[in-house]
Amino acid sequence: MKRDCIFCQIIAGEAPADILYRDEEIIVFPDIQPQAPKHLLIVTVAHITSVAEIGAGDLQLIGRLILVAKQMAEREEIAQSGYRLTINSGLEAGQVVPHLHLHLLGGRRLSYQMG
Ligand code: 5GP
Ligand code: ZN
Repeated sequence: MKRDCIFCQIIAGEAPADILYRDEEIIVFPDIQPQAPKHLLIVTVAHITSVAEIGAGDLQLIGRLILVAKQMAEREEIAQSGYRLTINSGLEAGQVVPHLHLHLLGGRRLSYQMG
């Protein structure tokens, strides 16, 4: 755990969040500033700062992030209508929380623009 990391604080129960899913490796909670009707964050329990820090030893974890995102989309009933999974990595991508997470966005027709 990194003490000054907001996601680590949520994982440790030291900051509030509505935990929708949790296992040993992954935690899911809604984004505090949702950019779509459904906007969840699928977050690694381990403090990995970004995609830049992922190594070959993390392959199973990264696969599981996508699988959990898919299951959450089903649970949120946006699997049929469609959804977007996004990872921001680094400054120019707009990453503001340096703790690895996947955005799950859906519940309306999303913008075509991705950049
Ligand atoms: P990034 O730009 O790093 O990919 O996205 C970080 C996301 O975390 C943002 O969409 C932001 O709204 C969300 N966020 C930042 N602080 C908090 C918080 O304290 N609680 C929750 N639930 N989401 C947060
Ligand atoms: Zn962290």
